Amino acid sequence: MGFLSGKRALIVGIASERSIATGIAHAMHREGAELAFTYQNERLQSRVEKVAEACGSDVLAPCDVSEDSEIDDAFGIIAKSWDHLDIIVHAVGFAPRDQVSGEYLEAVTREGFRIAHDISSYSFAALAKAGRPMMQGRNGALLTLTYLGSIRSMQNYNVMGLAKASLEANVRYMAQSLGPEGIRVNAISAGPIKTLAASGIADFRQMLNHVKDAAPLRRNVTAEEVGNAAAFLCSDLASAITGEILYVDNGYSTVGIPGL
Ligand code: NAD
Repeated sequence: MGFLSGKRALIVGIASERSIATGIAHAMHREGAELAFTYQNERLQSRVEKVAEACGSDVLAPCDVSEDSEIDDAFGIIAKSWDHLDIIVHAVGFAPRDQVSGEYLEAVTREGFRIAHDISSYSFAALAKAGRPMMQGRNGALLTLTYLGSIRSMQNYNVMGLAKASLEANVRYMAQSLGPEGIRVNAISAGPIKTLAASGIADFRQMLNHVKDAAPLRRNVTAEEVGNAAAFLCSDLASAITGEILYVDNGYSTVGIPGL
C-alpha cells in the first residue's frame, strides 16, 4: 500500500512526457493515489490522455487557467466522477516568448507582466478557490512549482522571476487562508529540467550545463525526483508542513559562489 492510498489528486500542467507534472503523476500513482487531469487545449489532449491511461485514469477535463469559466467547468466535470478531492497540483507557468529573452527592462512590457502573473501566479489561487468546496474535511494539500529566479536575478528569466516571487507569496497567503480548514499549501522550487516551457527561455541549455557542474550533487534533477518530493509533500507524511518552499535542486541554491 502506497503512502497516498485513498487520496484523490487533480494534476494540472501536463504538456508532454517530459513535463514535471508527468513525473508527479507517475509518483502519485505509484503511491496509490487516484488521479484526474486537465489539459490546456485540444492540441495537448491526446498527450494528457496517454499519461492518464498509464496512471489508470479516465477523469479528464479541458482547462485554460486564464478563463474562470473554464476552471469552473473543469471542476464541474471532475465532480461528476468524484465527490471529493484531496490534492491539487498546479504545474503551470507561462510568459510570452519575447519576455524571457534579453535584458529585463528592455523585454518587460505591461501586457507581458500581466500575462506572466495571471497564468503563473493568480491561477494557483483560482484553482484553490474552485477546488475548496470539494476539499473540505479531507486534510488535503495543494502544491505548485517555482524556480530560484524568484529570489535571484537570472539572465533571460526576467518577468517570470517576478511572477514566481508572486507565486511564492501566494503559497504563504493561501496557507493562511486554508490552514484552519486543515488544507496545506506548499511549493517545490525545482532545478532546471528540459521541458517545453523551459525551452522557451533563451540559453536554457547553458543554464542546465552550468547547474550540472556547480550543484553539490554535480547533476541536474529529473522530473521523477521532483515527483517523489511532490508525492511526499501532498501526503499525510508531511502533515505539519505548510507555507513552505522546498528546494529540489541538487543543492544548487545553497552554494555561495556557484561554479567556484
Ligand atoms: P511544461 O511545458 O511541460 O508545463 C507547463 C504547463 O503549463 C503545460 O502543461 C501548459 O499546458 C501549462 N499552461 C501554460 N499556460 C496555460 C494556461 N493558460 N492554461 C492551462 N495550462 C497552461 O513545463 P514544466 O517545466 O513541466 O513546467 C511546469 C511548472 O514547473 C511551471 O510552473 C514551471 O515554471 C515550473 N518549473 C520548471 C522548471 C524547469 O526547469 N522546467 C524549473 C522550476 C520550475
